[in-house]
Amino acid sequence: MAIKKETAEMPVEQKLKNLYQLQTLLTEIDRLKALRGELPQEVEDLDAEIEGLTTRLGHFNEDVERLNADITAKQGKIAEAQAAIERYKEQINDVKNNREYDMLSKEIEFQTLEVELQNKRIGEATRTIEAKKADIENCKAALEERRADLDVKKSELEEITAETKAEEEKLREKAKNLELAIEPRLLTAFKRIRNNSRNGLGIVYVERDACGGCFNKIPPQRQLDIRMRKKIIVCEYCGRIMIDPDLAGVKIEKAADEKPKRRIRKTAAK
Ligand SMILES: [Zn+2]
Repeated sequence: MAIKKETAEMPVEQKLKNLYQLQTLLTEIDRLKALRGELPQEVEDLDAEIEGLTTRLGHFNEDVERLNADITAKQGKIAEAQAAIERYKEQINDVKNNREYDMLSKEIEFQTLEVELQNKRIGEATRTIEAKKADIENCKAALEERRADLDVKKSELEEITAETKAEEEKLREKAKNLELAIEPRLLTAFKRIRNNSRNGLGIVYVERDACGGCFNKIPPQRQLDIRMRKKIIVCEYCGRIMIDPDLAGVKIEKAADEKPKRRIRKTAAK
């Protein structure tokens, strides 16, 4: 309670200073998060890809197994047909009439066609196996590649996490303490603005006569109000809280030649 009262009575200048300091800490935390930002997703994606490739490889292997079993079955059929042909050929020597001869001849022809058909199918299955084996090799190569990628990304992530974790915790602790020195109402407003902004900035300084958040021009009177540091002023375009760069401790390179140059351009345009 004592703190709340203190923060409310705090001069605007101090409020802005604290808020800007908080913004700096939060921006740094955002930067650390962004540092490992892509890696967790990349690791997840690689994991999923490896799982998919492993499944596909399993299917290819099953297909080859099934085709090999088919070939074995067809070879069995061929052996049967060939045995039958041998049998008929022996029988044809002892035929008693033309009818028997014709019947056996037809059987031999039929079994010969059967052998041809099965051989043709074995040829097809063999070619399919060859194609599947090529798929298997490609799959294995891709798996090896992805696994190597995953190892690298995983250790990278572990390294960054180990490095940034301590730093991030320290920053969070500092931010938490600093938040106690900021008027709750102002803090809530600041956080809302920050959450709504794409770059995570809730307080910005004036730069080149423009808002440092949305880059819209700030009218001179408003700029003067900001420099006065007597009240909290927000950008009329983006709603971000504005701070005088000097108060923020930012050195803006107001290049001495900038203003004259602009004037020259303006007059030249007219
Ligand atoms: Zn703005």
